[in-house]
Amino acid sequence: MQLVKLNRVRAHRMCTCSNYDPIELTRDSISGRIKASRQLKKSLDEIATHSDGEHKLYVCRACGQFWQGSRAWNWGNDPYLFRVPEIEVAEWLKNVYVQPDDLLIYAAVMHDLLEKGNFVSGDQTCRLEGCTRNSMQGLVTCLPHHVASLQRMGRFPLEPSGRWFKPYSHDGIVPKL
Ligand SMILES: [Zn+2]
Ligand SMILES: [Zn+2]
Repeated sequence: MQLVKLNRVRAHRMCTCSNYDPIELTRDSISGRIKASRQLKKSLDEIATHSDGEHKLYVCRACGQFWQGSRAWNWGNDPYLFRVPEIEVAEWLKNVYVQPDDLLIYAAVMHDLLEKGNFVSGDQTCRLEGCTRNSMQGLVTCLPHHVASLQRMGRFPLEPSGRWFKPYSHDGIVPKL
């Protein structure tokens, strides 16, 4: 009994969850978290692996904090951990949380496109059937359909998929075009 108590105290002392804030959407924060994750993982128990083989769900043995492990494709596909809200495993398996690395890449590429594209609405209607928006000057389609065609060609990332959670929000990452 004494021993069990002692182990609990030790486990609690080992928990460093509170040292890790939600990941800021910068390349450095993602790189930093990749480096820190091996140590952080030591106090976590893996409770689920998604069938896609990439995402894992963990819970901290000491404080009960939930964490998702994903791979940062643009950072050499290295694994990293980020804190997520508590969730039933079955629910999580249906739809894992969105990943900060995906959010960062999407937001950055979108920002670049809008900045460099300098899009101005033209006076023609978008050529896509059923679309009533104006096409952009120099393009035959509206901006949403331009992005969609870049996505189809693999030249623009798909909208981040997964379950949104704070502090990230769909509207904060995916602009209304
Ligand atoms: Zn913890
Ligand atoms: Zn259109």
